[in-house]
Amino acid sequence: MSGIVVVGSLNVDLTVEVGRLPAPGETVIGTGSSTGLGGKGANQAAAAAAFGGTVAMVGRVGDDDGGHDLIGDLRERGVDAEGVTVTEDARTGSATIAVDGGGENLIIVDPGANSAVTVDDVRVDRVREADAVLVQLEIPIEAVSAAAAHTRGLFLLNPAPARELPAELLERVDVLVPNQAELALLAGAEPPDTLEATKELVTGLPGEGRVVVTLGAEGALVYEPGDDGGFTHVKAPEVEPVDTTGAGDCFCGALTVELTRGASLVDATRLAVAAAALSTTAAGARGRLPARDEAERA
Ligand code: ADP
Repeated sequence: MSGIVVVGSLNVDLTVEVGRLPAPGETVIGTGSSTGLGGKGANQAAAAAAFGGTVAMVGRVGDDDGGHDLIGDLRERGVDAEGVTVTEDARTGSATIAVDGGGENLIIVDPGANSAVTVDDVRVDRVREADAVLVQLEIPIEAVSAAAAHTRGLFLLNPAPARELPAELLERVDVLVPNQAELALLAGAEPPDTLEATKELVTGLPGEGRVVVTLGAEGALVYEPGDDGGFTHVKAPEVEPVDTTGAGDCFCGALTVELTRGASLVDATRLAVAAAALSTTAAGARGRLPARDEAERA
């Protein structure tokens, strides 16, 4: 067994600042633009590596500049990108984002090569031999299920973006890490507005697995079924958030590293909450990816 494998998406983001968002059929002139590297999978791999984990990524990019940039970036961060396949006839996944002065946005995602991730891509030794496998939902659900079936170590699922999931998949998950909106969708309910309501939705989920619900500024709620377990609310340190984009990705990366270091779920959540809170203090999904000792001091 060795290290963490993140199975998931890699995207190039193009953000254009506009005075106001365009209506259908309308053209507006932007006032500036920037490109960034992202995708929940690549973000979580980057966060786990920054936190000190030994990380490999499995996914797909297109044979274009963005794809090669994404692979190069992961390598620079110390992530093993051998499992990222360059796909000849696909474009790298992309998000095109228009954002107005008030922070309101309009996002168009083209999954591109992410939708070409196959069952065979994840039925590989590096997945079977990993201490932990961390997956999200920006790749085909068949590949997510195959990764779950193939994993012998710990299987963590961040069910984002929110969608319904087959009960067999949820039953295989060792640690489910939803935010409140994702939890509500899985439970077929309205988003919970109290901690008690959140707990009710968690206990209603299929499976016997452990659950960590992220609660934004309120930190996270840990659920460990069984006699000694139950719920633990881990509060977030107070920070002045600048941009909460990618906070959940930072959380998942740090949590997985701590679990592979042998921490209990509650202790791992404490450090993940601290790391994710710190990550909100800089702009961009990867503006600040804390190292483990920074999270310990927070
Ligand atoms: P997502 O980004 O997936 O929607 P959350 O909003 O629940 O997820 O945030 C994930 C984690 O990021 C939280 O558990 C918390 O640790 C941290 N976080 C997010 N927003 C804040 C905030 N305003 N203050 C402190 N920590 C935050």
